Amino acid sequence: MRRPLVAGNWKMNGTRAGVKDLVAGILSGLGGFDRASNAEVVVCPPFVFLADVAAQLAGSPIALGAQNGSAEKPGAFTGEIAVEMLVEFGCRYVIIGHSERRALYGEGDAMVALKWAAVDAAGLTPILCVGERLEEREAGNTEEVVARQLVSVMDAVGVEAIGRCIIAYEPVWAIGTGRTASPQQAQEVHAFIRAQIAARSPNVAEQVRILYGGSVKGSNAAELFAMPDVDGGLIGGASINAREFITICAAA
Ligand code: PEP
Repeated sequence: MRRPLVAGNWKMNGTRAGVKDLVAGILSGLGGFDRASNAEVVVCPPFVFLADVAAQLAGSPIALGAQNGSAEKPGAFTGEIAVEMLVEFGCRYVIIGHSERRALYGEGDAMVALKWAAVDAAGLTPILCVGERLEEREAGNTEEVVARQLVSVMDAVGVEAIGRCIIAYEPVWAIGTGRTASPQQAQEVHAFIRAQIAARSPNVAEQVRILYGGSVKGSNAAELFAMPDVDGGLIGGASINAREFITICAAA
């Protein structure tokens, strides 16, 4: 039985005061959640807010994650954040390979695999994002694209290591567009991802959690999460609204 997980990707949003209110709202809304029987909940603020959010979340069941991390060891890499720093600030998860980083910052499959390995080596859990662009889906290439993104990491780190991460299927055409994949579309790709892993290790495939991301809201979360291979969600826009985020967590 895979425990559902909901992770909020706040992207480059928030002010110090606004983040404080957001966390307070999430904490009060999830007050009844307990560690064992409910969905696991993770929030991924911008780096500069990590310390504040870590302090606010102390003693709560909500875990802290980062939106990115460097593949390099600490050193002369201006503007980068080492995974060791994320550990020190209480992070447990790191989003890797988000489509915005692939598209806007040129992170290709090789870089994603290096980052994945650095995050894992630091004892953190990578949330590995994969997903096709609209033109790739329309050309019938969804499986090919998703398989390439997944296999490049599996080849680099080995299938057993994949069992230590979370995978997020995020069709690029659904991210921030308000256009959600239908539950059936999500299930098809999630089942495909699981089958790709099962071809190397049925055990890992059975245990690995695969989240759906792309315009998940309070109103559509339950039907997406009801799919057998959808183990929760990676939530962007709706995660910076406490009420929406709590509704999504409750659905999981
Ligand atoms: C995301 O950026 O990971 C995401 C899923 O965004 P949104 O929920 O806003 O589509």
